[in-house]
Amino acid sequence: MEQLLKDFVRHSVSWAGLMPAVRSLFAGRAAIIMFHEIQKEFRSELATGTSISLFEHSLSWLRREGWEIVSLEECLERVLRNDRSHRYAVLTFDDGYRDNVSVALPILERHNAPFLMYVPTGAPTRTLQAWWLGLRELFRSQDDVTIDAMDTRFHCPDFQAKVSALARAAQWVHEDYHRAAMLAPTFHKAGVSLSALNDRYFLDEREIQVLSRHPLVSIGGHTTSHPALKTLDCSSARAEMVDNKNYLQNLTQKPVCHFAYPYGDPEACGPREENLASDAGFSTAVTTRPEQLGALHLNHYKLPRIFVGGFDSEIAFQARMNGLQRAFHMLLGDHQAA
Ligand SMILES: [Zn+2]
Repeated sequence: MEQLLKDFVRHSVSWAGLMPAVRSLFAGRAAIIMFHEIQKEFRSELATGTSISLFEHSLSWLRREGWEIVSLEECLERVLRNDRSHRYAVLTFDDGYRDNVSVALPILERHNAPFLMYVPTGAPTRTLQAWWLGLRELFRSQDDVTIDAMDTRFHCPDFQAKVSALARAAQWVHEDYHRAAMLAPTFHKAGVSLSALNDRYFLDEREIQVLSRHPLVSIGGHTTSHPALKTLDCSSARAEMVDNKNYLQNLTQKPVCHFAYPYGDPEACGPREENLASDAGFSTAVTTRPEQLGALHLNHYKLPRIFVGGFDSEIAFQARMNGLQRAFHMLLGDHQAA
């Protein structure tokens, strides 16, 4: 019901040509945008990343609407200076996916758009327990999937059923990140190899090295094994950050100053992790709290990010950048993260 109401308001506002008014009332001056995979085969990957068409649209639209795409350092500096001459967007990519280079990079080069890629050590070293890729492979390759740990059997013969089943299984893990490890027997039984998926989907060490020398790229930290840091004891959480920072600095021979909390939601990171990121020597850390950047109360270790992908339409993307999401929260009293 709430979704229907939101869709109605979003389309009404768009149709009535009120977007400029909404924008001036609610839009921030700056936003950090979060991408994961940029997919050519969007449907066969069960719509888990950002389609190439939405990605291209996003960049063209930002340029057309007067957003400057800048580095995170420059963006924060402009926000703190309260520079209102432009609006600023920062592009970030999580996890180090191959298609960020094969698909996204040529588009980013065309727009001369700087970007930040957050890399967990386990991706280039092929040890990442990327349960989300394992689940996707399971539903892509089979029409009947039994997940014993969930005590659930999914019948998913078509695209829509596969997308729904994957969303349900992923949600089950997000509710309690300890559950990720409970999927191992299911993957094993189905012949899904997480290390093979590492090879297929993540950049390797050599590719990260080459990419790090690209003038548009900054490499950021994303822990060693991509855990929900809040679920770890303090010394393990610290080691996840420090070891990953050292690994990436050795690999790229460059300082690694920025960090993204894996999952980035309140179940995965909080004030303790903000202190750890600061102690580890990072100058910023991003969450997945879906908000724009405001100059007031700007905490460099709790920076919000706006996700663009999945089944987002172009209008939904524009609405989010124009601050419509914030308008919903204020008008409908909805304070929950989307
Ligand atoms: Zn991640």
